[in-house]
Amino acid sequence: MTRTVLANGTVLDGTGAAPAAADVAVEDGFIVGVGVGLDGDEQIDHAGHLVTPGLIDCHVHFMADGDFSVNTHANTPFSMNFYNAAERMQRTLATGVTTVREAGGSDLGVKEARDTGMIQGPRMQISISILSQTGGHGDKWAVCGAHMPGMMDSHPGRPHNIVDGPDEMRRKVRELIRAGADVIKVCTSGGVLSLRDDPQHAHFMAEELDVLVAEATSAHKFVMAHAQATDGIKNAIRAGIRSIEHGIYMDDEAIDMMLERGTYLVPTLIAPLGVIQAAEQGLDLPQVIIDKANSVVDAHRASVQKAIQAGVKIAMGTDSGVMRHGQNLTELAEMVSLGMAPQAAFEASTRTASELMGIEHAVGTIEVGKRADIAVFSGTSLEPVGLRDRVAAVYQDGTKVA
Ligand SMILES: [Zn+2]
Repeated sequence: MTRTVLANGTVLDGTGAAPAAADVAVEDGFIVGVGVGLDGDEQIDHAGHLVTPGLIDCHVHFMADGDFSVNTHANTPFSMNFYNAAERMQRTLATGVTTVREAGGSDLGVKEARDTGMIQGPRMQISISILSQTGGHGDKWAVCGAHMPGMMDSHPGRPHNIVDGPDEMRRKVRELIRAGADVIKVCTSGGVLSLRDDPQHAHFMAEELDVLVAEATSAHKFVMAHAQATDGIKNAIRAGIRSIEHGIYMDDEAIDMMLERGTYLVPTLIAPLGVIQAAEQGLDLPQVIIDKANSVVDAHRASVQKAIQAGVKIAMGTDSGVMRHGQNLTELAEMVSLGMAPQAAFEASTRTASELMGIEHAVGTIEVGKRADIAVFSGTSLEPVGLRDRVAAVYQDGTKVA
């Protein structure tokens, strides 16, 4: 086996240690040494570069790419969606994001195409469908009576996503696990990119969420909750859901509950900004969605700022797909703009994200025994503004992929 040394970089290892000059030795896809003066069969000089663990985005949707217009969905041939996903995965990997949690859309075939090496992309956990109550964030029913086409349409690999009542919930979670879900995604409140719901309303009752978490837990799966409304956030925390996605209307009690339960927050700060920008650039979106995006921005930023100050565990997630893929690193700059230290933003995007996903034994830090998923940036600054333009190399399982 060839032993490769990524030499002379400034290594931010993700453990909480300060950045330090070090070499990283890689063999057979794993990190086998971190230190000064390592030798190997080949040396790649990364002097003057920042070397970090491959980044982890805990909230992406590969079956969309910043265009939620019904027309686009209606005019995309069914199987074209999968080829599109492959290109988006490649685009994401090229930013240094080597692992993602797929928050709804991609099915088992998308994951397996990557795992078998047929296509390149971040390693992924998939949720497949987004569970929603009737009239909830994932319900595509429109007032004309039709179900509008979108990235959640059911197909043989992607179970239908609308559930009401504990019994349906129990069956649906089992169906999703049968279909290959690594994590279960549920909407415990309304959201922005949907027609007939309100981000400030809680969705699902405690008895439904309890069944959901019990079924997922017995299959050793975590649950992630799209949760924007204050009550929807609290209901999710009470039910034992592992992560709050978006967390737009968090009050002090919600933050205290998260601290007490160890619940993670995945802010997706760039998501509403992306919707507003797309509308400004002329994307054909219903006015109700544009209005909702504008209405949540300030509350969202205030909530996330409070959570950062309070010390809530924060894992990076972008909702890429809501905006075009490949802008993932912008999220770090947004987190820093709300008071997170730059090094903490990298740790939210590496170690903490791996802990949320339960894969910290394999990825998320640069330590001996971890998979050699590594991002290299030109310059040694931790300043995240402009980070995408600094991506110099991306390694996944020790192989240079970008
Ligand atoms: Zn999402």
